[in-house]
This record gives sequence, C-alpha cells and structure tokens, in this order.
Amino acid sequence: MIKGFTQNCHTEKDKCLVCGERLLPQDMLVMQQDDTPVCRAIDCRNIMSRKDAMPELAFESYLELNQKLVRHRRQVGHARKRFIASIQEQEQQENHQICEHVLKQYPEIDENNLQLVSIPSGNSQVEPVPQERVDNYLGHLRKIIHKAAKLKHVSEAVQDEHYTAHEKLVQIEQRLDDITGLRQVSEQLCFNCKGGCCVTGANHAYLSICSIKRYMDRHPEMSAEDIFEQYVSMLPEASIQHSCINQTSQGCVLPRELRSDICNGHFCEPVKQLQMELENEGRLGSLLAIQRSYNVRNKFETGVNNEIVAVFLYDSDQQHEIDLEELLTESVE
Ligand code: SF4
Ligand code: SF4
Ligand SMILES: [Zn+2]
Repeated sequence: MIKGFTQNCHTEKDKCLVCGERLLPQDMLVMQQDDTPVCRAIDCRNIMSRKDAMPELAFESYLELNQKLVRHRRQVGHARKRFIASIQEQEQQENHQICEHVLKQYPEIDENNLQLVSIPSGNSQVEPVPQERVDNYLGHLRKIIHKAAKLKHVSEAVQDEHYTAHEKLVQIEQRLDDITGLRQVSEQLCFNCKGGCCVTGANHAYLSICSIKRYMDRHPEMSAEDIFEQYVSMLPEASIQHSCINQTSQGCVLPRELRSDICNGHFCEPVKQLQMELENEGRLGSLLAIQRSYNVRNKFETGVNNEIVAVFLYDSDQQHEIDLEELLTESVE
C-alpha cells in the first residue's frame, strides 16, 4: 500500500496529492474516475499517471521524491509572485502620489483625461566594443546576407518571428498614423527611455535573413558585399554596456531603414498598452510618463532598483519635465 498516497487521500482530499495546493472546481473537472486528488497542472498529472505502470513501492518513492521537487518549485514560484506583487503595489502607490502632485501643479488638466504610463531606462554605461562582439556580429551579418542573397523572394525564408514581424510593423505603423499625436509621443517616450528594450539586441541586433532580403529588394542596385560594408561602416567603436552592439549614448547607430522589422515595430508592454488604450479612445489626452531605472529585462530581478528617475507630462503637444526633487520632498512630508 502506498503510505503517502492513502494517508493523503484520507486526510487531505481537498489538496493535490503531488503539489499540496488546494483543489479548485476546475481541478475537480479533470480529476480521474478513481477520485485521486490531483490538480490539473501538467507536472502533477504526469507524475500521477505513472501510478498504474509502476510497482507500488517504487511508485511510493517516486511520488515522495517528486512531491518534494514540485512543492519546492511551487514555493519558489509563489515567493516570486509575492515579490512581483509587492513591487507593483509600491509602484502603484508612488504613481498615485505623483498623479496627485501633477494635478495640483497643473489644475487645468482634467483628471479623467490623464493617462499614465511607466517606462524603463536604457543602460547608460558606454564601453569600447570588444573584438569578440565585433567578430560575432560580423559573422552573423555575413551568414544572413549570404542566405538572403540566395532567396528569390522573401516568402522562401523560414516563417518565424522575423518573417511575421513585417506584418506587425505594418499594423503598428497604421495605428501610429491613425491617432493624432501617438507617433510623436511614442517616439518621445522612447527618446526619454534611451533604449530600455535594446538590452536584448546583443550581437545580432535582431537582423535576420528576412530583414536583409527586404532591404535587398528595396535596393536592387546594391550587391551583397555593398550591404555588408554598409552595416560594417556603421558599427560604433563604443556602445552601451550589456546592450545591443549598435546602441550608443546617442541612440541606435542604424537608420530605421537598416534596422530589422522587429526593432522598428517593437514597443515595450507599457507603451504597447498605452497605444492600444488610445486606439480604443481614438485620441490622446494628457499623458503622465513615469520613468524608472530598470530596463525591460531586469525589472523584477532581486537587487534591481526600480526608483523613479524622471517624470514627464505631455499635454497639448508639449512635454514638461516634472521637478523630481520637489515631487519627492512633497511625498516625504
Ligand atoms: S519601447 Fe519601451 S523600452 Fe523600448 S525604448 Fe521605447 S520606452 Fe524604452
Ligand atoms: S539595432 Fe538599434 S533598435 Fe535594434 S536593438 Fe540594436 S540598438 Fe536597439
Ligand atoms: Zn498539483
């Protein structure tokens, strides 16, 4: 007889035998006929599915070991959720205080017409680009240019996220055109952020066979070698540390035309969210942008400071920077 199994079955019928989590009505719906209390999580179900195929004693040890592993993983997961929730709660409180401060300072702004967006910050430390990074980048460029040159049409390329990025870009461009002021404010937000999302650009800069093939089609007068040389000529001597090789303190060295569709069509979640909300409303009112020191990759890492580094108000096509010192002094009082 499986000790843990029967014991748990009799005493804790309302909890999953594997992970120990309380069973929800959704779990009950997928429970097997034998009434074994197991939740709908794939890992828990997979573990229990071995029961009939294993000798009882072997399954008992197997279950015991996996209970420990799964429960530990769940604990780590719950702790992480609590950690993220505490950061979000603190940010919400701070955002609320900032809103109140700004509304006091600018009484002409309609509270019901004030949107809020939180933006990250790009890294700022610049370093000479190590030769290893240059070699990686040039190797990547050579490979994709060589492969792109062999395609008759871009549709022959693998239909991955680089391929579909083009359609997304077309939709995003449409949205930016449809809502007055949205393109300008989106560009302004990115300018203030200084490439918080470019930290993931590494040594590939999201350049792909698809982006190169599309560029080749727009420039039939250029050879593969010309295109390679063009990218090489733009490579900076120094770029932002731990970020895309093309990101400098002045921003991306590549003109939009040479960037990938992924880069051109990318907006981080908060900016995307803002754009979609405004698409529903059809217009841009007043916008409060709270910039924090994290970048898109490290927001919820322990030890990363999410402190406020700047606050901007966009109203009637004007950008005002809110005096942070005054704001922080007021929130302490
Ligand atoms: S999309 Fe977001 S993270 Fe990227 S530069 Fe713009 S504001 Fe910064
Ligand atoms: S190529 Fe430019 S836009 Fe794209 S990730 Fe690099 S720095 Fe950012
Ligand atoms: Zn479970």
